[in-house]
Amino acid sequence: MDKQSQQNVASETTRSTGGCPFRVGMGYDVHRLVEGRELWLGGIRIEHSMGLLGHSDADVLLHAICDAMLGAANMRDIGYHFPPKAGNEFENIDSKILLRRTNELIQQKGYRLGNIDATICAERPKINPHVPEMQACIADVLGTDPDNVSIKATTTERLGFTGREEGISAYAVVLLNHT
Ligand SMILES: [Zn+2]
Repeated sequence: MDKQSQQNVASETTRSTGGCPFRVGMGYDVHRLVEGRELWLGGIRIEHSMGLLGHSDADVLLHAICDAMLGAANMRDIGYHFPPKAGNEFENIDSKILLRRTNELIQQKGYRLGNIDATICAERPKINPHVPEMQACIADVLGTDPDNVSIKATTTERLGFTGREEGISAYAVVLLNHT
């Protein structure tokens, strides 16, 4: 590619991303904790007396990450692409499949994942011992280095619905690079 063509591509890239080769997105999700469900969080199963209720496996962290990735690419949200309709293909689906498809969607629009920073809010179970396995799992699904996947955990000091163990919430911020 000659110099003029390179400049044209560069200016097209910066114009389509508002003058910046990066795009930031945020995601937030909540699921209710109930008895009789498996707890899936960050792509892994965690032993607990309760699990998250949802149309899919209700992996609240993966859903927040999907929404952050879609938000960064301005591609609506997870419910838009994977609607929770009774009896459809997404019922009880492994959310790692949704995360993989989300990564394909943003790549089709010309973006590539930079890094993720996420926070899980849960009173119980203890999340921190599971963080390295979650990081490895998410990095594997997204084809990135585990160092690009930061996962933090906090309680809400027994306050609010997470503090009362009625549910678990998750926040995620994602940076995408324009390819
Ligand atoms: Zn969700």
